[in-house]
Amino acid sequence: MKAKDIRTQFIDFFKSKGHTYIPSSPIVVKNDPTLMFTNAGMNQFKDYILGNETPKATRVANSQKCLRVSGKHNDLEEVGVDTYHHTMFEMLGNWSFGDYFKKEAIEWAWELLTEVYKLPKDRLYVSVFGGDAGDKLEKDMEAFQLWSQIVPESRILFGNKKDNFWEMGDTGPCGPCSEIHIDLRSESERQQVDGYTLVNNDHPQVIEIWNLVFMQFNRLADGSLKELPAKHVDTGMGFERLVRAIQAKSSNYDSDIFTPFIQFIEKKSGKQYGLDEKVDIAMRVIVDHIRAISFSIADGQLPSNNKAGYVIRRILRRAVRYGYTFLGFHKPFMYELLPLLAETFGEIFPELAAQQDFVAKVIMEEEQSFLRTLDNGLRKLDQIKEELHQSGKSVVDGKIAFELYDTYGFPLDLTSLIARENGFSVDEKGFAAEMEIQKNRSRAAAEQETGDWVIINAEEGVEFIGYDYLESQSRIVKYRQIKDKKGDRFQIVLDRTPFYAESGGQVGDQGWLINGAETVKVLDTKKENDLIVHFVDKLPSQFDATFQAKVDAAKRKDSMNNHSATHLLHAALKQVLGDHVQQKGSLVNEELLRFDFSHFSKMTEEEIARVESIVNAKIRENIALYEQRNVPIAEAKKQGATALFGEKYGDFVRVITFDPQFSVELCGGTHVSATGVIGLFKIVSESSIAAGVRRIEAITAKTAEDFVNSQLELIKEIGEMLKSPRDLKKSVETLVQERNELKKEIEFLHAQQAAAIKQQLIAAKEQRNGFNLIISQVKLPSAESLKKLAYELKNEVADVVVVLAAEIEDKPQIAVILQESLVDSLGLNAGQMVRDLAKEIQGGGGGQPFFATAGGKDLAGLSKVVQKAIEMFAGR
Ligand code: ATP
Ligand code: MG
Repeated sequence: MKAKDIRTQFIDFFKSKGHTYIPSSPIVVKNDPTLMFTNAGMNQFKDYILGNETPKATRVANSQKCLRVSGKHNDLEEVGVDTYHHTMFEMLGNWSFGDYFKKEAIEWAWELLTEVYKLPKDRLYVSVFGGDAGDKLEKDMEAFQLWSQIVPESRILFGNKKDNFWEMGDTGPCGPCSEIHIDLRSESERQQVDGYTLVNNDHPQVIEIWNLVFMQFNRLADGSLKELPAKHVDTGMGFERLVRAIQAKSSNYDSDIFTPFIQFIEKKSGKQYGLDEKVDIAMRVIVDHIRAISFSIADGQLPSNNKAGYVIRRILRRAVRYGYTFLGFHKPFMYELLPLLAETFGEIFPELAAQQDFVAKVIMEEEQSFLRTLDNGLRKLDQIKEELHQSGKSVVDGKIAFELYDTYGFPLDLTSLIARENGFSVDEKGFAAEMEIQKNRSRAAAEQETGDWVIINAEEGVEFIGYDYLESQSRIVKYRQIKDKKGDRFQIVLDRTPFYAESGGQVGDQGWLINGAETVKVLDTKKENDLIVHFVDKLPSQFDATFQAKVDAAKRKDSMNNHSATHLLHAALKQVLGDHVQQKGSLVNEELLRFDFSHFSKMTEEEIARVESIVNAKIRENIALYEQRNVPIAEAKKQGATALFGEKYGDFVRVITFDPQFSVELCGGTHVSATGVIGLFKIVSESSIAAGVRRIEAITAKTAEDFVNSQLELIKEIGEMLKSPRDLKKSVETLVQERNELKKEIEFLHAQQAAAIKQQLIAAKEQRNGFNLIISQVKLPSAESLKKLAYELKNEVADVVVVLAAEIEDKPQIAVILQESLVDSLGLNAGQMVRDLAKEIQGGGGGQPFFATAGGKDLAGLSKVVQKAIEMFAGR
């Protein structure tokens, strides 16, 4: 059975059991401070499980793109080395939100695996939670009873908290789980060792394929467990492992999900898979990592130097490095896998196929720049080797190995490998110590402590009324304390709020919570999943009161101008540059708007002017806002609404239209009632921020007016400086022209002057014993002219020795030049002479034996230089 069909059968099976199919949410997580990437199918359903939101369907099935390279679940170092952990993988899941529980979950899992997929029953093992004293939890006998109806007890294991109690993170939903493992060893091996003893023992052929989690608890910040309001089922099955089991392969990479990619790399590198472990690992790393990188970029996360972007950059570098070291790829190669990738996943994850060229371009440039870094690192390593040789040492310092890692992206194993090849070793302990220091440093910087919510009013749901109102009467639902590098603050949730929470690029509202004489300032508003959280630096003295919640209207209005202008800009860019323009990021606050978009070349002045002029025309048209709330997503798409990749949309969306022929976008932001309010739109910069991504910064309304006025003011001031001519441009042109003419004239005069000086010096030369001597103090315009004069004297006077003590722009300089042949015949050295003479002007210099110069500080010393030179040649 092909991988594609296996996926379809999973979904179809659960549809037949009353489940609704839900597409994967983006791999990059927004609006969740505890998570950068989706690491399990349950992430997008967290609010259902916590009871923050009512699920649309109580039975759901999906295939979720997951990435496990950071945080609680981090498999990065295993990937490629083993054959069943990936960075990005698909997690197939079936879900019950307060609907069925253990019985159905267990029975259906067994039915699917053994009857639909026909996996051999005697190769399957199941595990059950064996209890935990610390958490005061009993064995999960309910699950055990259910399993023992269908699986012989000899293949049921009790597992500990580590394996059989699933937790999303340090806090949050959790519960006991039952895992299903499969023994894929050969018959003969199975005869020798009982598979039972290998379950959960890191055996590469006895692996976990499915985890059935029974969500019952919420883990609080103090570590204690609290029963959830309702019980849920959350299952996760690794698609790649399942396919491998069904196709009876001994490695995930031998299934048809990966073989086309392995073959591609084999062809490109001229090396064969399966002969040399190192080559094999490198190939596995590459075909695995390209998926993680590509899907993340397609979901909007560009490689960068911090946070999620840095995680992506590191994965990419790991792959490039393996290719470089073990497959001989010294030029970008990963990006070439994109067409194959887009084709393979086009159906299930169309977002990749839609942006194939863009993703390839980003990866190619990223590869290129890292390969340059690698080259620099190798050179640095050569230098280190040289130093070790000279000092007779044989161990590379841990600090140096760490610097290579930190600045050049050289992992320790690569440094060790190269060191070993050269007969050195690396101080690995020292490296680990440096690593620890850095980790502590970044941990301290990133640390955020979050207290538990304190419930004030048990309210169902939280209402956002900020599209229509800037003030409301609100009650506090709950609050908690947080502590991070900004200090101690509090988060407050209100039952209803006019405060817009940061999202879609628009900043969160600021404002006030007022109760009688007491006012608490709201510093910021953010989303945590679907919760609207108000940040304050002190709590109100009375919690259970009705507050007047009041948004800072002036700031909000400016942000609204900028947000609506962003939509107009987006549409205008598509008109001027083409339909390939995709939003790649946006920031909207009260000062400016910043819009990042995919486009491969710098915009011309003319294009920028056209975009600006279209937007301003739309502003003057004063187009009324057409806002539709709760539009079914299919309907919105039919209207041609622009949706963003990597954005999670619900079934019902909000559509913002400014002229249905011009700008229709899915958007949750706040907007002006009609475009005329924006007043004026001005682009202030256009630049590149990454491969294939341009950034426009623009301003609107009063800020734009101020900007234009300041430019006009500048012109006025320049006019005044030029005595207010009638035609300013002409005056400046004349000024520039005059300046050029004067410059030429000065150059001419200088040349004349120099020629005159030269003639005088030649006339004044002294004939000495076998050479002509010229010693003189001169005044010249530049160091260049001094050098020129010296050379001309050498060329025009036979056997000459020249010493010039020059005053150049109020500074002393010395030049000594002599006929090359005199260096040997008379034993003269210009460099030496200059160094001697320079003492008189408190300076220094040098050069070659026939020509040398020096500069100094003491202008008055020039006459002493002349004196000293005369003495040097006295009697010669
Ligand atoms: P393992 O112990 O093998 O790392 P896990 O306990 O971390 O697995 P879960 O968190 O229970 O796995 O995830 C559910 C399923 O997802 C697993 O049964 C497995 O099939 C799959 N899975 C987990 N991690 C990976 C990974 N890194 N690559 C591929 N599949 C994975
Ligand atoms: Mg794991």
